[in-house]
Amino acid sequence: MSNQIETVPFWDYSTTAGPEQWASICPEFTTAAAYQYQSPIAFDTANCLSGNSLTALEINYQAQEFTVDTFTQSIHLVPTDFTNSLVFSGQTYTLQDIHVHMPNEHVIDGVMQPLEIHFVHRNAAQEPLVMGLFVKAGTNGPTLPNLNWHKGTTLTFNPADFLGATSHYFNYSGSLTTPPTNGPVTWVLLKDIQIAAPTWLDAIRQALPCANNNRPAQPLNGRHIDAY
Ligand SMILES: [Zn+2]
Repeated sequence: MSNQIETVPFWDYSTTAGPEQWASICPEFTTAAAYQYQSPIAFDTANCLSGNSLTALEINYQAQEFTVDTFTQSIHLVPTDFTNSLVFSGQTYTLQDIHVHMPNEHVIDGVMQPLEIHFVHRNAAQEPLVMGLFVKAGTNGPTLPNLNWHKGTTLTFNPADFLGATSHYFNYSGSLTTPPTNGPVTWVLLKDIQIAAPTWLDAIRQALPCANNNRPAQPLNGRHIDAY
């Protein structure tokens, strides 16, 4: 994972090679975009379904080494070993990558946030699960890992230190939000919105390889969102 290659051909978030063009950039992107359940999505909490069969998310993270890299128009924290994991719906998924979107991609109750962090996992069958954490600016939040976000830096931290106090979540099935936007991807969006100091957010913004890197919300196409 430390030698990932920038996706070819080139894409970005501009008006010439951005989200509106991704599906026509190459056949691989075209096929991926044809998957009918794309991400991100926008939804209202009032329309989410509770009383489902979902159970508590079990997050088993501990401190480990990461390397900072930049690819797919984002900053990535790539773990040296796949030793951190979570359990969702009885299945274990190992943490393979952490990256950022500014501003947020998923829009809940119409609210935009400055940052959405994606924790990318895969299970033994290589099926992806992405856990999303929203972060807003504030002065009364916890102390978050003080990271150097510049490419090539090696860091040791516990990714659980990014997370809020509880692990209640929204769940739906979608796709990757960067090309090729393949699905299905199991999405777990944490309800607890983290609070970060403006300077903490600025450090990420300054290291981001592009301006905004958020794909707009995609059609629901009949999907519903479960809440736990
Ligand atoms: Zn992402």
